Amino acid sequence: MTTETTSASPAFVELGLAEPILRAIADAGYTTPTPIQAQAIPQVLAGGDLLAAAQTGTGKTAGFTLPILHHLTSRAAQAPKPGRPRCLILVPTRELAAQVEESVKTYGKYLSLTSMVMFGGVNINPQFKALKSRVDILVATPGRLLDHLGQKTVDLSGVEILVLDEADRMLDMGFIRDIKKVLAVLPRQRQNLLFSATFSDEIRTLANGLLHNPKSVEVARRNTTVEVVEQSMHRVPQAHKRDLLAHLIKHHDWQQVLVFTRTKHGANKLAEKLIKDGITAAAIHGNKSQSARTKALASFKDGSVRVLVATDIAARGIDIDQLPQVVNFELPNVPEDYVHRIGRTGRAGATGSALSLVDDEELSYLRDIEKLIKRSIVRVEIEPGFVPPAKADLMSDERPPQGRGGQRQGQNAGQRQGQNSRPPQSGNRNAPGRAPQGAKPGAAKPAAQPGRAAQSPNAPRKPRPQAALFSAKPGSRGH
Ligand code: AMP
Repeated sequence: MTTETTSASPAFVELGLAEPILRAIADAGYTTPTPIQAQAIPQVLAGGDLLAAAQTGTGKTAGFTLPILHHLTSRAAQAPKPGRPRCLILVPTRELAAQVEESVKTYGKYLSLTSMVMFGGVNINPQFKALKSRVDILVATPGRLLDHLGQKTVDLSGVEILVLDEADRMLDMGFIRDIKKVLAVLPRQRQNLLFSATFSDEIRTLANGLLHNPKSVEVARRNTTVEVVEQSMHRVPQAHKRDLLAHLIKHHDWQQVLVFTRTKHGANKLAEKLIKDGITAAAIHGNKSQSARTKALASFKDGSVRVLVATDIAARGIDIDQLPQVVNFELPNVPEDYVHRIGRTGRAGATGSALSLVDDEELSYLRDIEKLIKRSIVRVEIEPGFVPPAKADLMSDERPPQGRGGQRQGQNAGQRQGQNSRPPQSGNRNAPGRAPQGAKPGAAKPAAQPGRAAQSPNAPRKPRPQAALFSAKPGSRGH
């Protein structure tokens, strides 16, 4: 190690990372390790297996990438060969794969290690070509990795460190069999790191089979929402949602909003509607080509597009620093998805706001979410300035969720087509019968809905006094 660590933060220096890594961290402007980094980095440096409960936005990527870079740079490669990675990072989606590899490059920029990203839905030939060179760190989605294994274009016999990132999502997406096939060709002697935001029985089973005497680290209480995110909701008929959202964006002058819709079609329709209303918007989902998704994300990041409309799976792994506003255009039917969604905002200690638009039909989902996060989401009255159009969006082909299976199926379908062509796993947590669709009143009493026009969505809304604007009902917060 040299003495060029003057610009490196003492807190990172203390962790014992190699100097070139410290320099890259200083360049990135990090001064203090996040809690997951403070806990995970020493454990990974010690060499054992790790089970980490960390939500997205906690800095978990650096939590595993930094010590991995340290290990790989301090140990000589055994039998180095082209296309024979020393570290394999498995992730559920293309976007996450691209971002993790970007982080590897960022933190490893002063090292001579090489990395590669590998995912489906894109031409495989450039990947063949890249695998003809040295690849120290391979970041891959499971389906495309199996394609390469089948064609013997990648050799996993030299993997020293395996990372399963967002393991819960990989299982949700039906990748368990693919993961097992990959595990079968890895050398037995290796370090395993498993990261997951939530811990289902399936994750525990996977962890038990994979990890040897793992150390566990946990930074956020399990299944709880990021504390710094301000969460609120409007009760609004589905048919009014598009107009309301356009109104809110203009009224609050939101410049960067990530909006979640239930379906790919709904995402397209909503983006079209916003554009029609003069708001720059783009949609990303599994039916979009990789280049269209990358372009939309880049435009959103650089501010040329104000609104990014995304389905859950497409949005998975998107990393946008300090995203101020997330909108749930529909509530997810899998409560854990709500946690993932709002994790898009309030990242790395920044504050953020998550607003949900909730139709009567979604109240049972709301109840499940509030049960999971152990708090009520603040009901906020729709501001008086919003008057639904006389001809409301009744022709909307978007309906509120129709049961858990329906939503997940739709998402998986997009993912299948767009990514790895793997069938969704049945019997996961969106199994039928978990919660019927229903319009029963939610656990928490909703705020009065002036002009909500539940019976008649076309009825004009009566203006309300200004004081009602974004005022939370007293006592509606459950903690
Ligand atoms: P992740 O949870 O890995 O997706 O990281 C979330 C965001 O936090 C990324 O934009 C990182 O660049 C940022 N980040 C990671 N570690 C730190 C740190 N120690 N200080 C400040 N920002 C960080």
